[in-house]
Amino acid sequence: MNWKKFLIPIFASLIFSHAEAHVISIYKHPIEWTENRERLMREYSLEHYGREMTEIEPRAIVVHWTASATLESVFNTFYSESMEDGTLNVASHFVVDRDGRIYQLTPETGLNRHAIGYNWCAIGIENVGGVNGEEDLTDAQLAANVEIIRHMRAKHPTIEYVFGHYQQDAARESGLYLELVPDYYAEKIDPGAKFMRKLRKAFSKSSLKFFPE
Ligand SMILES: [Zn+2]
Repeated sequence: MNWKKFLIPIFASLIFSHAEAHVISIYKHPIEWTENRERLMREYSLEHYGREMTEIEPRAIVVHWTASATLESVFNTFYSESMEDGTLNVASHFVVDRDGRIYQLTPETGLNRHAIGYNWCAIGIENVGGVNGEEDLTDAQLAANVEIIRHMRAKHPTIEYVFGHYQQDAARESGLYLELVPDYYAEKIDPGAKFMRKLRKAFSKSSLKFFPE
């Protein structure tokens, strides 16, 4: 599948963030929101969160890496409504390419599946990289994550927490973890402690809450 076919409508949107008085470039690169995807999402949320949902009020941001080397492979994965391993309807709100370019795949208030226990309230940022667990995310990606988080916080003041996917257990302290299916859990290492350390440092003057490495 050639993802460039799905670039309609792709355009750079310059969004002025009042709180930070800076300009952030986000390339819209939407995954198709089909009736089937919506049905899958309602089924998923009913099973895992006890209610049918397609939208969220963001309370947290979860940072990931894709464990793949190219934007194209990430997009193809997310574009599929269901995957060969039976995983359904996985997606993240933002994907940051190696060069720091930001793509938004779904509205940030859409329910996406990216972090077990937190999807009902969390925005997901995926960073292209981390193949074989190598902590190789770039400085440009770090800067882009800072931009996204600042922009989202200004837009959604309900956001209080930022954590790496590997910090999913520590983040239960937030009280946001919710999962009704027993033993539904996957060990995670993304996006690496090094990246989260730098991200946390960038927000040292912010009231956003991070978790120990
Ligand atoms: Zn992850």
